[in-house]
Amino acid sequence: MIRPHIPEFAMKKSPRMRKLEEMLRSSVLVIGGFMGNDRRSIMEVVEADGKALSRLRVTPERVAARMQEITDIAVTGLETWVTIDEVREAEVQEARGWIPCPWSDAHRFRKRVTTLRRTDTGQVVQWSDLGIHFIGTHTFFEGKGSFFRIEPADLVRALF
Ligand SMILES: [Zn+2]
Repeated sequence: MIRPHIPEFAMKKSPRMRKLEEMLRSSVLVIGGFMGNDRRSIMEVVEADGKALSRLRVTPERVAARMQEITDIAVTGLETWVTIDEVREAEVQEARGWIPCPWSDAHRFRKRVTTLRRTDTGQVVQWSDLGIHFIGTHTFFEGKGSFFRIEPADLVRALF
């Protein structure tokens, strides 16, 4: 019988971390969950994306601030496209209700989705309000295969 590979730190995971991981992998909060089909642990995902960001010389806080800035402008369009700058336009769609951060940090977010389009390259990226918080506070870009997963390099290219 082949034993599955378990990363060292996964073995000393706290019950709270395990619970969080369960919740992120479940499809309770959004279709597909936040981990998609990623087999890595949350810590591995966070670490890899954090490294990718620092290679791009941008902090998670800076990325989240720019996402928030674009969402704040786009929301004024009431679900129509709004010009952000000479090469970007964005649109916000909103659903009813709120979604809590699964990190249990008492943050909850409107179910809003921002779509950003670069008019020069045609690149399109999407994020939720929770996703802005995930990146800015938890350096969490979600697991590969999850609905809102954006590769850090693609997001940075879209935003700046
Ligand atoms: Zn949080």
